[in-house]
Amino acid sequence: MDSPANSQKTVSDDEEIDYSIKPEFYDSDLDVKDELWMVKKRDGRTSDAVLSCPACFTTVCLECQRHEQYVTQYRAVFVVNCKVDENRVLQHNSTPPSIVGKRTRDSEKQEAGSADGERLNPVVCSTCSTEIGVFDSEEIYHFSNVIPSEP
Ligand SMILES: [Zn+2]
Repeated sequence: MDSPANSQKTVSDDEEIDYSIKPEFYDSDLDVKDELWMVKKRDGRTSDAVLSCPACFTTVCLECQRHEQYVTQYRAVFVVNCKVDENRVLQHNSTPPSIVGKRTRDSEKQEAGSADGERLNPVVCSTCSTEIGVFDSEEIYHFSNVIPSEP
């Protein structure tokens, strides 16, 4: 009438649980997060254009956004075949007067206020050294002398 079988059963259950643990889920989770970050960085949009050097036609940027007001200007975070000239510093205020003059007072104030004292470095094509844009202190490239084409 004595039945000590209960304690034996418990031990074998514990062993089965140990073998079924698989911590592999965490890695695939990281991949998804990385992809979401990329989409967020581009505001959920794909590239507006592919940009090329106007002198040698080397591709300099595959993912960029067109400027809302100056349609010949593009900004980008990831570039190719470009060099930042860190020996030269440009003043943000050196915008050509012809462009500033056409702007309304409001947008002119906004641009000048936020850009006060900002340091910009020229960006040149690494193939032919033609100046194609500037690199700002927030590590964003602004291309103004490039040839855009369909992405
Ligand atoms: Zn070039």
